[in-house]
Amino acid sequence: MSFVPPFCPSNICPAHKKPEKRWFTREGYYQPKCRTVRVPRFRCNLCGRGFSRQTFRHDYRDHKPHTNAATYLHLVSGVGLRQTGRLVGLDVHSVQGKLRKMSRTCRRLHANLCVELRASEFLLDEEETYENSSIRTVTMPVVIERKTWFVVAATAGPIRRLAKAGTRRRRWQERDEKKRGRRPDTSRACVRKTLEDLRRRLPEGAKIQLHSDLKSSYATLARSVFGDAVMHLRTPGCAARTTANPLFPINTTLAMTRDNNGRLRRKSWLVSKKAERLVEQMQLFACYRNYVRTRFNSDAPGETPGRLLGLIERNLQAHEVLGWAQLWGRRSIHPTSAEGDRTHDMAAAG
Ligand SMILES: [Zn+2]
Repeated sequence: MSFVPPFCPSNICPAHKKPEKRWFTREGYYQPKCRTVRVPRFRCNLCGRGFSRQTFRHDYRDHKPHTNAATYLHLVSGVGLRQTGRLVGLDVHSVQGKLRKMSRTCRRLHANLCVELRASEFLLDEEETYENSSIRTVTMPVVIERKTWFVVAATAGPIRRLAKAGTRRRRWQERDEKKRGRRPDTSRACVRKTLEDLRRRLPEGAKIQLHSDLKSSYATLARSVFGDAVMHLRTPGCAARTTANPLFPINTTLAMTRDNNGRLRRKSWLVSKKAERLVEQMQLFACYRNYVRTRFNSDAPGETPGRLLGLIERNLQAHEVLGWAQLWGRRSIHPTSAEGDRTHDMAAAG
């Protein structure tokens, strides 16, 4: 079957929102240098815009699109940017460019797939890391679902953690702040953002349980975001880190983030230069964790957190995560639709 465009890509065209019968004309094919198959071309009968199948793809206008899936898999396997470049045949700047574009597609894909979470128990914790230099600390709050370990939300931002007064490290921090100004502390704002991200994905009137450690700001933030809809359960951080610990799933997920994302590894030189780059990396990781990787090694292959939550019918391959562009919300083409004939809305309607 040949590709049928779902709508006109021009968002000011009437055929964008409501494509009527015969809204486009086929205009042959072109043969890109980087591909073996030819790409069908179209023209919109209403606005006259020309476009192709590529307009609906993540790798639209990419150089070396055949390296995308391998680049993605290396980047979620703890490999650094430079080494990824060496392995797939790109220079480090191309890897950086691809990472940024992939992070946008992953963020949108997660938003389009995870619109309503039918679950009631969630866990919250923060991972501490740093940007550029170990004195510039960064927090990375993560919220996951308890049974499936589905990563609902993650973000990162600078925090101010001063060493003991009089220590060498403290003097170093003071010199640094004199040069760059006082370091902002965005811990509360970042935690609030991840909790609001969770709230947006819950059905109207849903009641939830939220597990966390004893950090006092979690209680006030949970109350302020969810009001009476939350039962907040707290476990001391010093409790034994066994499977019996209610925080076991989030502790293990955070350990997994250090394993899968080179820049979070301790005593490594792959550290992020900027906290924003870490946020981008986490978009790649969340899609990998939720839709590509099987939940536990003991699960049947393909039992991803996203499938277990009923958000998608099966696991995805890397080339499917980076398949169709996800720019148009739920009207974007569904990642499991090989021919491009099914949007997210159509998938939900059955
Ligand atoms: Zn048009």
